[in-house]
Amino acid sequence: MSTVYFSSSRVPEFRRWWVPESSLLRKMEKVFYSAGLDKVVSGTVGIKVHMGEPGDVHYLRPIYVSKIVDLIRDLDGELIVVETSGLGWIPGRTSAEKHLEAARRNGFCEETIGAPVRMLDGAYGIESIKGSIVARGIQELDSLIVLSHVTGHIQAGFGGAIKNLGLGCVTKTGKYRVHYDGPPELNKRCDLCGECVAVCPVGAIEDGRINPDKCICCNACLDVCSKDAVSVREVSNNELAARIAENAYKVLQNLGKVGYINFLVDILPHCDCHPHSDIPIVPDIGLLSSLDPVACDRASIDLVNSSPGVLTSEAENCNALASGADKFKLINPETNWKVQLSTAEKLGIGTQEYILEKVE
Ligand code: SF4
Ligand code: SF4
Repeated sequence: MSTVYFSSSRVPEFRRWWVPESSLLRKMEKVFYSAGLDKVVSGTVGIKVHMGEPGDVHYLRPIYVSKIVDLIRDLDGELIVVETSGLGWIPGRTSAEKHLEAARRNGFCEETIGAPVRMLDGAYGIESIKGSIVARGIQELDSLIVLSHVTGHIQAGFGGAIKNLGLGCVTKTGKYRVHYDGPPELNKRCDLCGECVAVCPVGAIEDGRINPDKCICCNACLDVCSKDAVSVREVSNNELAARIAENAYKVLQNLGKVGYINFLVDILPHCDCHPHSDIPIVPDIGLLSSLDPVACDRASIDLVNSSPGVLTSEAENCNALASGADKFKLINPETNWKVQLSTAEKLGIGTQEYILEKVE
């Protein structure tokens, strides 16, 4: 049984003009210490956060990260805000340069959050810990605070702390292997134009075929080919959800102490990798913090599902407005959020059994 600490977004006395302790930032401080995240912090501390695809406007606000930076700085930790590149070649976060520019435009840079932002997987998102899919920079961290924006997910059903580890802390190869089986192949639509050859980072495309022994599964060829001539084998949604948890397990094998804060605010039906933001599916709920990512995610799901849905959002469209309706399942019916959590639990990452402690 794990303990998850919860602080609500509600302001109890909203007619009072000046109630700074009701700020979500003050509540962050309370759940941070209640869950013992101060004891996680040692040496070089990474703060993991998804800084939003360009076009997404409901990503986690930089002010939350800035608050965590302040808390950790008080504890004398050495701080880096960390991320990895997205899969592929073209979209807005697929290299360190593009990702840092997208982050800057979304408000994340040293001037605003008080700590440098560093990509853990090198310039092109392919640098890993030797023989692994885990981003190389993970091994340089002594501890990690994982800040996760809780959302739905069109393939995994749900995104929170486990997904932030399993997709957010791995290289492109790790991300690819969550989504696809085996390396890509060129198909008969290929006219040998050579565009993919020019972007392949390892020279794996030779004589009109992909050499599976050289291919590192970065997805660049799929992105640049305008002739639909690169074939991939997508995995089922349940397999994808399980692989997220398996990746998270591998990431945790390479980390020291880790603490988690889940943000139940602006809860979208989809994750922050989309270049758009739908209307949140439930009202803001609050913050959860724990040393157990599985418990933190399970408590997040239970709180979202017990909340009433937001009229005009996808929750209404999917008949998921009732308190108690499984919002994640009803909104993405081809998915099963339980797979990600049960796989994580089987791997020993944490437990779905939890006690919710309210922090006022
Ligand atoms: S970009 Fe597409 S069409 Fe051009 S060589 Fe590569 S796979 Fe073939
Ligand atoms: S062949 Fe493999 S390594 Fe080369 S671009 Fe395609 S996916 Fe990446």
